[in-house]
Amino acid sequence: MPEELDRLKEENERLKELIGFKSDLVSISVHQLRTALAATKWSLKMLLDGDLGELPREAAEQVRRSYESNERLIAMAGEILSINHSEGIDPAYHFEETDLSSLMEEAVLEFKDEAFKHRMRIEYVPVGTPAAAEVDRPLFKVVMQNLLENAIKYGAPDTAIAVSVEPQGDSVLLSVQDAGIGIAEADKHKIFSKFYRADAAKQKESIGSGLGLFTTRNIVERHGGKIWFESQEGEGTTFFVSVPVRQP
Ligand code: ADP
Repeated sequence: MPEELDRLKEENERLKELIGFKSDLVSISVHQLRTALAATKWSLKMLLDGDLGELPREAAEQVRRSYESNERLIAMAGEILSINHSEGIDPAYHFEETDLSSLMEEAVLEFKDEAFKHRMRIEYVPVGTPAAAEVDRPLFKVVMQNLLENAIKYGAPDTAIAVSVEPQGDSVLLSVQDAGIGIAEADKHKIFSKFYRADAAKQKESIGSGLGLFTTRNIVERHGGKIWFESQEGEGTTFFVSVPVRQP
């Protein structure tokens, strides 16, 4: 029954399209949600850190609870994104030519205050030449944000975080280097796994989901790129991302 087969094939294609569309919607709205939650996080953190003056004890306790609920929501948003990815129903990526130096400058600016509060500074001097690549801008920004956030979380006070973006033939290489806790040899093969957090990381920073690097790697690989790191326990870590200039 070739007609029946054709009909089923058509139906199948349509369903795939619909699922892809749904997946797109989930991805876009969750990213927006995550951005809004991140903004709330920094405001609550400023209050908690006493940047706007000392809070009365009860008020501080309320803010702390809000901060923790907000963190759980951020983790949940990450989880939804990664499930969306791992279902194999990739959201449609919208690749557009982007200067990764400028995108990194934006990301660095967003984390400047947070770094300062941790007594760290982010050193980023764009090389001068544009480092253009075809990327999905909001998703690639998430890659940069996750690496910068980790460098601050697992970095050490009174040190610098060194960031670079440089064109290398038909790809662009990014790096984010911290001088923090580093990654133990035994943990190295696990850190891109979903939900994995090393013991040393949990001790230093009790809040975390173990989803950041999992999501980051998914995004990088969906661009046809690679992510890897070099790390020395107790000395620091450098994450590298290489992304092709053109998408096939
Ligand atoms: P989270 O930061 O929420 O724990 P991630 O998925 O971003 O989750 O990172 C997974 C784990 O990889 C971290 O818990 C930590 O053990 C390790 N890690 C990531 N970035 C760094 C870093 N810059 N320095 C040391 N360890 C890191």
